[in-house]
Amino acid sequence: MIKQATYYKPLSLQEAWETARQHAQDFRFIAGGTDVMVNRFQGNENSNCLIDLTAIAALQEVKIKGAYVSIGAGVGLNDLKKHALITDEFPVLIEAAAAVGSPLIRNSATIGGNVLCENRCIFYNQSEWWRDAVGFCLKCEGNICIATGSKKHCYSEFVSDTAPALIAMGAMIELMDEEGIKLVKLEDIFTGDGIQPRNLQPLALIIAIQLPLKQGFRAVFQKLRQRESMDFTSLTAVVSIDVHEKIRIVLGGVDPKPVVVEGDTHADKEELIRQAIKKSRAIDNEMFSRTYRREMIGVFLRRAFTQLAI
Ligand SMILES: Cc1cc2nc3c(=O)[nH]c(=O)nc-3n(C[C@H](O)[C@H](O)[C@H](O)COP(=O)(O)OP(=O)(O)OC[C@H]3O[C@@H](n4cnc5c(N)ncnc54)[C@H](O)[C@@H]3O)c2cc1C
Ligand code: SF4
Repeated sequence: MIKQATYYKPLSLQEAWETARQHAQDFRFIAGGTDVMVNRFQGNENSNCLIDLTAIAALQEVKIKGAYVSIGAGVGLNDLKKHALITDEFPVLIEAAAAVGSPLIRNSATIGGNVLCENRCIFYNQSEWWRDAVGFCLKCEGNICIATGSKKHCYSEFVSDTAPALIAMGAMIELMDEEGIKLVKLEDIFTGDGIQPRNLQPLALIIAIQLPLKQGFRAVFQKLRQRESMDFTSLTAVVSIDVHEKIRIVLGGVDPKPVVVEGDTHADKEELIRQAIKKSRAIDNEMFSRTYRREMIGVFLRRAFTQLAI
């Protein structure tokens, strides 16, 4: 049965922050709720306090800030395409957002929530009674990883579809935590540990995601999944190239964190592919096998290089 929680709906960042501080030991921010609520139904998220961020106007803004476009963390995935600032310079972000879940999910889901979507594993994203019957694993207070037999590491997968596109275009996140407001490279918040996938402080609140303007990005987004209509990723691959001919490859779905490989147009492309596959610590913890997904990395990257003519 889903656990009851005290529910708050602050109207400002300051109020949200204060409320979080008062419940520091046991709260969860909630935006669209499409990840949080499913995890609550499955007994994987049991906070006693939920702080709903959807009434905070400052999180809904899309604006130019210096050399960046700043996208409020609360902007809905379906609403990104309404902003010319995004569609004109970052069309691949619209494509990535459109690949998340189903239309119903995208109507509620936000970009901030997507970037912080919880890591997934077929042995973890199950009902509580299922996990109890099989035996709880490291990510939910058990003492062994069911997928690998390891007693130390969890390889639950990083599955956000927009984060690889954002990282490929040099995104920064603006966040508020115990130290004040700061800007952090998006890729730096991911730890690579499936149990604690992010290194954010407990009270960290994402205000916005910033993308650098005038970089002339060209990018290709590809996603492998069982059903086009709504499934989570089994492999997300984004390849971008900027005005300086710098190439960024970012993969999701094949490691507990985004896999990033960089090069330039003169780099040996097969070598970039080898590096991407080598860095991906995919295991057999979802519907497609590890071997198949690793092979598909090469397929997707070669297709992207051809499309980008690099
Ligand atoms: C059937 C189904 C299919 C799905 N398919 C996909 C898919 O294909 N690809 C994909 O990427 N995701 C998928 N999802 C997961 C989820 O819907 C998305 O990741 C969604 O974008 C999450 O956004 P949200 O606003 O609903 O986040 P929420 O569920 O509200 O929050 C997610 C996390 O982010 C935190 N959070 C949210 N906003 C902030 C903020 N401003 N500051 C600090 N913390 C914050 C929350 O505390 C929570 O930990 C799917 C979900 C379902 C149910
Ligand atoms: S990878 Fe292992 S420890 Fe992590 S969620 Fe899956 S079964 Fe659990």
